[in-house]
Amino acid sequence: MVELAFLGCGGGRYQVIAQHFKTGGFRLHAGVKIHVDPGPGALLLSHQHNLDPLALDCVVATHCHPDHYCDAEVLIEAMTQHMTRRRGVLIGSESVLKGMGKFGPAISRFHQGKAEKVVCLRAGESYELGDIKVETTPTKHGDPTTFGLKIHSQKGIIGYTNDTQYFDELAKHFIGSRVLIANVTRPLAMRIPWHLCSDDLITLLNKVKPELAVMLHMGMLFLKHPPEKEAKRIKTATGVETVPGYAGLRVNLDKKVKFKRPTKQPSLEAFVRLPPERIEV
Ligand SMILES: [Zn+2]
Repeated sequence: MVELAFLGCGGGRYQVIAQHFKTGGFRLHAGVKIHVDPGPGALLLSHQHNLDPLALDCVVATHCHPDHYCDAEVLIEAMTQHMTRRRGVLIGSESVLKGMGKFGPAISRFHQGKAEKVVCLRAGESYELGDIKVETTPTKHGDPTTFGLKIHSQKGIIGYTNDTQYFDELAKHFIGSRVLIANVTRPLAMRIPWHLCSDDLITLLNKVKPELAVMLHMGMLFLKHPPEKEAKRIKTATGVETVPGYAGLRVNLDKKVKFKRPTKQPSLEAFVRLPPERIEV
């Protein structure tokens, strides 16, 4: 079985504190179990959605922003069975593992020392783990060591843009992806440096044409332009099924890509109580 489990579709410095959309990253379950970008709440959200942290074989922290690494140390404690065994693989960017300029390191030497293997990847490299191959893709992001992912599984490729602004060659790195996970920080064409907006995702999907797109890392302006509405607009423009990666969303790649929305979704009523002047990115 190859399955993705999502733990929230929020991101950015304002949304991380507000937690309307949650920021736990996502998990891949194949022969090995991987947690990618465990932001604040990843451990708690794992329990809330019946995902066992002790079952992890690998933790990936793609760059040195807290919405991507915050809960990495506690998940390493789980992966190493409460630090009683050297177990599992920790994959990280140079900034996360070694420190780079003003960034990091974000994971202590104590925790790095308990993983059976620590793998520092740069864009364009790859690492094989069980029945999975993790290939890294380039980004244009504030942390220059940030990498995206192209995960090769027995049931096809899963692409993850990670945090990046749009650039011409971005799409070519994800051609062949069955599922494309995209970090879309702003709705409509409201671009900011270092991040994608919804219209960038439209451009990307028209080139990549995956079976399913999952939107993550949505900032505060998605309170004014609700994720479901933006997802529908993107689907209409591209013909690609698009869904927000709400905590609890499951995607199965075994045959035709199928997804199951969580029964409980963030209430839009909770969003609109914010006075508009407080809605910032
Ligand atoms: Zn970032």
